[in-house]
Amino acid sequence: MFARRGRSRTSLLLLVALGALTPFMVALAPDREARAAISVAIEVHGGATSQLNCQWHPAFGACGTGAGSALDWANARGSNVYLRTRSFRSDGTWSIGTGTIVNRSGSTGCYRIDVDIVDDFAFSKGSLIYLHTQTWTPGWSVTIHGSPSGYWQQWVVGFTSDHIEEQQRGCTTTGPHLHQAASSAWTPAYSRYQVPGSYPGYLNPGQWQHRQSWQW
Ligand SMILES: [Zn+2]
Repeated sequence: MFARRGRSRTSLLLLVALGALTPFMVALAPDREARAAISVAIEVHGGATSQLNCQWHPAFGACGTGAGSALDWANARGSNVYLRTRSFRSDGTWSIGTGTIVNRSGSTGCYRIDVDIVDDFAFSKGSLIYLHTQTWTPGWSVTIHGSPSGYWQQWVVGFTSDHIEEQQRGCTTTGPHLHQAASSAWTPAYSRYQVPGSYPGYLNPGQWQHRQSWQW
């Protein structure tokens, strides 16, 4: 009787010891150790021409304040509006997420589309906002790729609205252009685009308007 009880207590202790060790064994498994953190970034460039009509101003405000996430880029009525990204991931060239075109125009006011960004693990990364813009392809999704040196992509996501028609809808606008902004998840490049003018290098590496980075 005594011996049996002793043996079962030993078995129990062994089980407890194994249970306590299991998390460490999983953490030290080779496949886990090989998976270091992956650094990811998306840099978003201007989506129209190289001519800047207005420096930084609020996402839903007028030109001329010097603060906010929006820039006004010249673009003719009906001209393409582009989502332009240079994206990075430290472990190779693979997809990092998707962008989905969403029509957020109301029945009155300025026309608006957003591109909602979601990463490959289904985490929301906020929205890129394009005012005075309409789209033929609401709901269309694109796959954003990253690479260690920066993977360049651009897609036509919409076109610039007729500003006279927008005025008739109650939108305050003085001419056809792209007002490009972003949600708070994105960092505006306040060191650049501080004065209106021509920016012929606006698509070059590093000349982004909004940026966001994270790790997996
Ligand atoms: Zn604007």
